[in-house]
Amino acid sequence: MQVVTTLAELRAARAALTGTFGLVPTMGYLHAGHLSLVRRAQAECAHVGVSIYVNPIQFGPHEDLARYPRDLPRDLALLQDLKVDLVWTPTDAEMYPPRFQTHVTVERVSQPLEGARRPGHLRGVATVVAKLFNAFTPDKAYFGQKDAQQAAVIRQMVADLNFPLEVVVCPTVREPDGLAMSSRNVYLSPTERQAATVLYRALCAAQARFDAGERDATKLRAAMSEVLAAEPLAHVEYVSAADPDTLDELERVETRVLLSLAVRIGATRLIDNFRLGDA
Ligand code: AMP
Repeated sequence: MQVVTTLAELRAARAALTGTFGLVPTMGYLHAGHLSLVRRAQAECAHVGVSIYVNPIQFGPHEDLARYPRDLPRDLALLQDLKVDLVWTPTDAEMYPPRFQTHVTVERVSQPLEGARRPGHLRGVATVVAKLFNAFTPDKAYFGQKDAQQAAVIRQMVADLNFPLEVVVCPTVREPDGLAMSSRNVYLSPTERQAATVLYRALCAAQARFDAGERDATKLRAAMSEVLAAEPLAHVEYVSAADPDTLDELERVETRVLLSLAVRIGATRLIDNFRLGDA
């Protein structure tokens, strides 16, 4: 496994690898969700690269950039065990030199949900991912369904800007009690950790209604809200039943729906989603 820091080193190492190349972008503090993307990439590509970069421009001024968990030695050991070919750990100075001034804005699909709650977040994500695509020139890039709007934004960017690669979205990996794995789960106190299962329970309640034939999106949102309201530690930012591609909020579900929610448990902001109705 080659671990490189500069863009020049990355380009040289990448050029030496022939055959299909898969990229897994991450912010590090790796967990089983990240590793599932790496394994999927390895199953589909001759070589796999991982980026580990806590991207400052996707954090708002009052968000958790400074305290975002980091453990590079542990991350590298996990990737070494999986025999990843190439890891890029760029510095902020390399990624955003002083006169940096170009950003990628994916307009409509970035506006609701996370976009409404975290202004600039998805612009920061699209910008760094565009830079990672230009640096690694992957044939395939792997993202988690956990961040459903991020995946939709990246898909749209790839289509709109003609990036010559395929976006692969992989299932959300969960803890045994249903909590979606996230680097941010480490922020939760034991009591908050218990309360945090409410996101999964809310999604399951709405799924049960959907499976029973409910197609009124308002009622699916209400099913989530009802479960969330019963958890005193949960502060709801949004519950949504939207079109999985456009993220437009639905009145009725014709075939497919993205149920998603953002909830604060104490100081920790958690998101989760289910995608229903796919064939
Ligand atoms: P992050 O390090 O949080 O930026 O995540 C890097 C990639 O891993 C993103 O594509 C995430 O959607 C994905 N990811 C994060 N958590 C999970 C999870 N629990 N299951 C599957 N993929 C995940």
